[in-house]
Amino acid sequence: MPVSQLSLRPLVAPPFTAPSARPFVVHTARDLGKITPLARLPESRRFEMQVVASVLPFRVNQYVIDELIDWDEAPDDPIFQLVFPQRGMLDDAHFDEVAALIKREAGKDELDGAIARIRADLNPHPAGQMELNMPRDADGAPIEGLQHKYRETVLFFPSQGQTCHSYCSFCFRWAQFVGDKSLRIASSEAETLRRYLAVHPDVSDLLLTGGDPMVMKTAHLARYIEPLLSPALAHVQTLRIGTKALSFWPQRFLDEEGDALLRLLERLTRAGKQVALMAHYNHWRELDTATAREAIRRVRDTGAVIRAQGPLLAHINDDPAVWARLWREQVRLGIQPYYLFVERDTGARQYFEVPLERVWRVYREAMQQVSGVARTARGPSMSAGPGKVEVQGVTEVAGEKVFALRFIQGRNPDWVQRPFFARYDPEATWLDQLRPAFGETKWFWQDEYAARWGAA
Ligand SMILES: *Cc1c(COP(=O)(O)O)cnc(C)c1O
Ligand code: SF4
Repeated sequence: MPVSQLSLRPLVAPPFTAPSARPFVVHTARDLGKITPLARLPESRRFEMQVVASVLPFRVNQYVIDELIDWDEAPDDPIFQLVFPQRGMLDDAHFDEVAALIKREAGKDELDGAIARIRADLNPHPAGQMELNMPRDADGAPIEGLQHKYRETVLFFPSQGQTCHSYCSFCFRWAQFVGDKSLRIASSEAETLRRYLAVHPDVSDLLLTGGDPMVMKTAHLARYIEPLLSPALAHVQTLRIGTKALSFWPQRFLDEEGDALLRLLERLTRAGKQVALMAHYNHWRELDTATAREAIRRVRDTGAVIRAQGPLLAHINDDPAVWARLWREQVRLGIQPYYLFVERDTGARQYFEVPLERVWRVYREAMQQVSGVARTARGPSMSAGPGKVEVQGVTEVAGEKVFALRFIQGRNPDWVQRPFFARYDPEATWLDQLRPAFGETKWFWQDEYAARWGAA
């Protein structure tokens, strides 16, 4: 059959005309008082939120408030926990200090000073992201906003995409949201990105990330993406865009700007590129609105795929039934489960962290409840300095109780998929708390990691 007679998929789906179409309205710490349903919570609770929101970034849009949060269940509601500040997100000393300052109506300078000090204590860039991953140009100057940690994949942080439609209260990128420029990793240089990719033929994947690149106008996004269509970047086969817009602001895919975005994605897929939205999901409720489903449908109509990833968190999704339902719903909507992450070092880590053993048990029990097509989420995975380390499980080897681990991704590709073992530790929540099993003193990768990447 001649090509001209093939019936192609229809172009981008018609605009969405659901009653829920709405303008983008967003609230921050300054207008907590304007969020009407918060009035249901006790005054003391609202004060706690004000204290925490003055240190950690807070931003929530009206769609999340109206359609994702079940206010009858607040404050325990998982989506409420996902976006609203909670007392336990700061340790007592930090909390008490800021609470006292607010209560006695301390001056702005004093308050700002205390807040800056506390933020500096909260370790904003875990896993040596800033120092170890910044590539350099031909003159040895660092290239801002670009990370090249794993051979095949370049991460790029477009500067206009360094915010999100709402903020997750556990986000490890929070330092970028509180306006500390020295901690920001971002670039507005589409041309720098293009040149870097052109001279790196090993790179098959470009991953745009943020914040959320979907907060950008489509025209801005196009400046980073369109160069992939040129022959010089033919080796970059896969474009991934990390986003939570499908959850936090699905209207992004429905209005006129959304149409333009879908047409852009479609031009790439028709040119033979693989386009994937790496969608951040924490709970099946995020998939449950008509708007979210319509957005998913429209993205899929472009030929792009949606892969889902997200961390396991106390108070939000520390439950096998929640993960099983999340993965089942994703598969039903045509989304591929991709990663389950272990919560990493962030400002509010003590509030959200779950011991590795527990994370693995939740993962395992959730896996047992779903069919094979929903078992594609790898993990539990720790994005640590040397690579992505998967907790394969707790087992016994030669009479010793151990964690079985392996690299899903490694700074050295040779490390990938080699099993290694850590001493069992029921309390450990991260790789840096584990010790090699069998009386060994070093990990198999430790010397090389230190020698080549200068890390301890
Ligand atoms: C996860 C990650 C990637 C992508 O890894 P895949 O296994 O290809 O999904 C790339 N760079 C960094 C820094 C990452 O953490
Ligand atoms: S959507 Fe992603 S980058 Fe944005 S706040 Fe949530 S976790 Fe952080």
